[in-house]
Amino acid sequence: MSKSFTLAEQVVAAIRTVVGAGPVRLHEPSFIGNEWLYLKECLDSTFVSSVGKFVDRFEVELATFTGAKHAVAVVNGTAALHIALKLAGVKAGDEVLIPALTFVATANAVTYCDATPHLIDCEARTLGVDAEKLRDYLIDHTEQRAGQCVNRVTGRVIRALVPMHTFGHPVELDELLAVVHDFNLALVEDAAESLGSYYHGQHTGTFGLMGTLSFNGNKTITTGGGGAILTNDINLARHAKHLTTTAKMQHAWEYRHDEVGYNYRMPNLNAALGCAQLEQLPMMLDSKRELFKRYQSAFAPVRGAKLMVEPEQCQSNYWLQTLLLDADQVKQRDLVLETTNDAGFMTRPAWVLMQVLTPFKGCPRMDLAGAQSLSQRLINIPSSSGLVPVVS
Ligand SMILES: *Cc1c(COP(=O)(O)O)cnc(C)c1O
Repeated sequence: MSKSFTLAEQVVAAIRTVVGAGPVRLHEPSFIGNEWLYLKECLDSTFVSSVGKFVDRFEVELATFTGAKHAVAVVNGTAALHIALKLAGVKAGDEVLIPALTFVATANAVTYCDATPHLIDCEARTLGVDAEKLRDYLIDHTEQRAGQCVNRVTGRVIRALVPMHTFGHPVELDELLAVVHDFNLALVEDAAESLGSYYHGQHTGTFGLMGTLSFNGNKTITTGGGGAILTNDINLARHAKHLTTTAKMQHAWEYRHDEVGYNYRMPNLNAALGCAQLEQLPMMLDSKRELFKRYQSAFAPVRGAKLMVEPEQCQSNYWLQTLLLDADQVKQRDLVLETTNDAGFMTRPAWVLMQVLTPFKGCPRMDLAGAQSLSQRLINIPSSSGLVPVVS
């Protein structure tokens, strides 16, 4: 039956089966819990800015939810990455390994430290860093000097690895932990997209020295704008809090700062929204999983594209539902995007790869065939948790 329909028509039909007539956006926040209540409480308290009980509460509840010992709330996920990299020891002139397939924030944060992104290939199984290829590459292109990993081509120190859990799917963390151990690298996870995603039962963002989250409006839960640093190290947590609050020494009235700090702390108003959203998170995750299951049945008969399934022994939050076109269907991608958007279903391709972006054209990189192929074949389809209401 499906033979007489183009891939684009089949995709539109499958989406319509699951989400109805449309129009449907790619990802919308939903505010069906205590959002209004907590925001009013916050306004009534007059503590709307960088101190207040909602910030403290949000940090405690984030730590509890993720299993991290500490969480430091900040203004956005990019700021979280910036501070995490700084605290991981990334200095001017260093290189930092990041996937070529990521949102630009990962590369920007490296650049804020006056360091250079070094681009790594990605694999189809997880959509993240290809651990095996990375190991082979590091064997061939680096050497250890005084306990540091040095890029033999550029002579610069490769300080850290920042894997990213693409669209909520956890990367191969066991392999990557072995790589950072063997090559003396710091591991900082960009878990901006993976709140509620677990690798072998442990929450993403809690495996390395530090992990970072984002609560931007398009993420699984939102604080308007916001982010957080996760860590199990009390000293790193304290330093992260200090740096993100202008490095002000605690004192009843005196303004004394002992290093160059940043005004990165999350305002109480945003944290109030966050506390309400966190209460909804388990329900949202159930809803996203249910949406995945419905898409899975709808896309089962479709030839030429596959729905992305969480990697083995992992639990994905299914932040963005993803189609991967077969290699021989690459030329159909733009038609699929056009047809679905014309039909009122907002879809979009993966990000333009980092080495293609003007600021990162000259960055050192390995062969990026995997990321290149993925970037031409990935399509995100409507993914809001509100699409499948779940009774809690
Ligand atoms: C959303 C996101 C961030 C952080 O974004 P902010 O908008 O600064 O909160 C970082 N990395 C990735 C991969 C993201 O998707």
